[in-house]
Amino acid sequence: MKVERGSAMHALVSELYPICRSITGNGVRETLRILQKSIPLSINEVPTGTTVFDWEVPKEWNITNAWIKDPNGREIVNFRNSNLHVLNYSIPVHKKVSLEELKKHLHYLPEYPDWIPYRTSYYKADWGFCISYNQFLSLQDGEYEVFIDSSLEPGSLTYGELYLEGESKEEVLLSAHVCHPSLANDNLSGISVAVFLAQHLMKTKRRFSYRFLFMPGTIGAIVWLALNKDKTQNIKHGLVLSLLGDSGNFTYKKSRRDTAEIDQVVSYILGKSSPENRIIDFIPYGYDERQYCSPGFNLPVGCLSRTPYGQYKEYHTSADNLSLVKPDKLEESLQTVINIVDTLEGNRKYLNLSPMCEPQLGKRGLYSLQGGTNNTKDFQMAMLWVLNLSDGEHSLLDIQKRSKMNFQDLKYAADALEKVNLLKTLN
Ligand code: ZN
Repeated sequence: MKVERGSAMHALVSELYPICRSITGNGVRETLRILQKSIPLSINEVPTGTTVFDWEVPKEWNITNAWIKDPNGREIVNFRNSNLHVLNYSIPVHKKVSLEELKKHLHYLPEYPDWIPYRTSYYKADWGFCISYNQFLSLQDGEYEVFIDSSLEPGSLTYGELYLEGESKEEVLLSAHVCHPSLANDNLSGISVAVFLAQHLMKTKRRFSYRFLFMPGTIGAIVWLALNKDKTQNIKHGLVLSLLGDSGNFTYKKSRRDTAEIDQVVSYILGKSSPENRIIDFIPYGYDERQYCSPGFNLPVGCLSRTPYGQYKEYHTSADNLSLVKPDKLEESLQTVINIVDTLEGNRKYLNLSPMCEPQLGKRGLYSLQGGTNNTKDFQMAMLWVLNLSDGEHSLLDIQKRSKMNFQDLKYAADALEKVNLLKTLN
C-alpha cells in the first residue's frame, strides 16, 4: 500500500517533469490542470500590472521553441531536448551573432561539466542559453544563429488554491512553489507531497480547515497575501513544502516566531524519527516562508525540506531529475507531514475536572485499558501525566515534553479520560 503510494507520487512527478514552467504562462496552467485530476483545485488568474504591495504582476511569458545553430548551420542546442537550455523568461530573439557575442549569453557549470544549469531573468529583459560546460568548450569560432520563440505580453499570473473546510475556521496553510521547469526535487516533489496530503485530508475528519496554495515562488506568495489579507488571520499553522524527494534527512526551518506551535510539533516529529534530522532557525531567505514571515504578517509558517536548497550538488541543474527523486522518500515525506498534521490536530489543552488528589481510575475501568500503547503500565503513566498537567496551561505537546512519553499515547489517555468525564477539552 505504502510502496504503491510512493510510486503514485513519483508518477505524478514524472508526468509534470517535461513541462516548461515559469512564474507565469501556460506551463503553470497545464501543471495545475494535471493536479485537478487528483484534487478539486481552483485555478486563479491575476492580470499583468496588478499592484501587489511593492511589486507588480509581470508580463506573461510563454515559449514554443528555441535553438542555436553553429557556423555550419548545424543545430547544436534545442529547447525541446531540455527546457533548461533557455534562460527562463528570455525575451524573443532571432539573429546571427559572433562566438564572442554568443558567449555573453551562455550559462554553464565548470564544476559539473556534463550538467545544464537552471537560470532565470524574471525582472531584467535579457536572453540566454544554458548548456553543459563540455559543450561550451567545444564551440568553434564563427557566426552562430540564435532563435528564441518566446513572448512576453500582458496576460496573467496563475495559481492554484484548494480550501478544505474543517470543524474550525482556524486554518493550516500548505504552500508549494510551481514555477520551476524540468527540475524534479525542486519542486515537483513538494507539489506531489501536497497533492497526496490533500487527498488524504479529504478522506479524514478535520478539526482545522486546510488551505493549499500552488503558486510561483515569491511573486505568487506576494500576490496571494496582497489579495487575501483578511484570510491570513485564520492561519494558525503553516508549512512550505519543498525539496522532499531526495535521499537526505529532513531539515525544518522554524518560523520567524521561533516557538510557534508548528515549530514545536515539527521539532517533536522529526526528533522522534531520526537524530540526523535538523531543526534550523529562521532566516529571511529561502522559499515563500520569507513572505509569510515578513513582519507585517508574521505568520506561524515554517519550511520543511529534506536536503536544503543549495546544499545538494544537483540543485538547480539538469541533474535534479527523475532519478534524484525516490518513491520511498516521497512516501516517507508524505507520512512525516501526515504525522505533523495528526499531532497538530490532536494537540489540545484539557482541564482536569477532578483535580483534588488523584481520581480513582479503577472504579471507572481505566486500569485494565492499554490505549494505544503496548503495555498497561505506559497507559497508566500517560493518564497520570495528562491528569496532573491538565490545568488549562499545558497542551498535550507540553505534557509530552515533560513526560517524554509518546504523543499518541498521551492522546489515547486524554480521549479515555474525557470519555469518563475526568477531562474537558478547552480548545
Ligand atoms: Zn529553486
